Amino acid sequence: LKFEVQILGVGSATPVLERHPSAQVLSIDNESFLIDCGEGTQYRLLEQKIKHPRIRHVFISHLHGDHYLGLIGLISSLNLNQRSEELTVYGPKGLREILEIQFKYADTRIRFDLNFVEVDTTARNIILDHQFLTVETIPLAHRIPCCGFLFRTKPAPRKLLRELLPEEFPVTYMKMLKNGIDVHDELNQATYLAADFTLEAATERAYAYCSDTAYLERNVPQLANVNTMYHEATFTNELLSRAIETNHSTATQAAQIAQMANVGKLLIGHFSSRYKTLETFETEARAIFENTLLAEEGVIYEI
Ligand SMILES: [Zn+2]
Ligand SMILES: [Zn+2]
Repeated sequence: LKFEVQILGVGSATPVLERHPSAQVLSIDNESFLIDCGEGTQYRLLEQKIKHPRIRHVFISHLHGDHYLGLIGLISSLNLNQRSEELTVYGPKGLREILEIQFKYADTRIRFDLNFVEVDTTARNIILDHQFLTVETIPLAHRIPCCGFLFRTKPAPRKLLRELLPEEFPVTYMKMLKNGIDVHDELNQATYLAADFTLEAATERAYAYCSDTAYLERNVPQLANVNTMYHEATFTNELLSRAIETNHSTATQAAQIAQMANVGKLLIGHFSSRYKTLETFETEARAIFENTLLAEEGVIYEI
């Protein structure tokens, strides 16, 4: 199963020409999940040729504009484009009210099923139990209620090697083999070992999206061993005091969390517009956590 994330924006609060506000698309199989939706996200989706019908779930971390101002535009366009698929928006208290007041004064009638799920940003809750994965909130520490999202694939059954089995092999036996149970066929006095007729299932994978947050060690157990973690790094360590003041993290701090949680790979983003170049972020983080990458817009990262 394909499991990957494409970064659409690595900027923070104020715009820089070549860096856009937060938005990412996580894809599994043929479905996509939109994570944050900064201003202009709909153009970024067009640019990357991401088909709207594939997106049925949108996760908003908090109500700072650089994380959700693109949502009203995106939803309006989906409505004008005769969307028929359902769309569920997960976000903190207030998001629904903000959008609905915009619909009201624009006399916009949404003609597809638009659902809102208000998330509690202070707790670890599973907010979506999907066919392929679960999504859990990651409580963060920011100036306003804010949470991240942990996407974890579900354990998959073993893959059946159908061509090795006799024709007319009973379906119940196939199910047993897929679950790793050996089959003894009394009638034909034959034994089928799961190990001989199936392949090991793909291992579970996890992606953590840590949006705007102050340095927060208490989340380390929840983030333990995830394959890929995105963590904000608004500042370099030189501006640690500014990070503390504004409830943001530095590249060093993001790397410290990655190291403590023993994640596979760290992606850092949400760079402050005051930085013209980003090398320092990389050097600084890598000094603590080697497998760090600067999140790059348009790039797809396998999880
Ligand atoms: Zn932000
Ligand atoms: Zn923020």
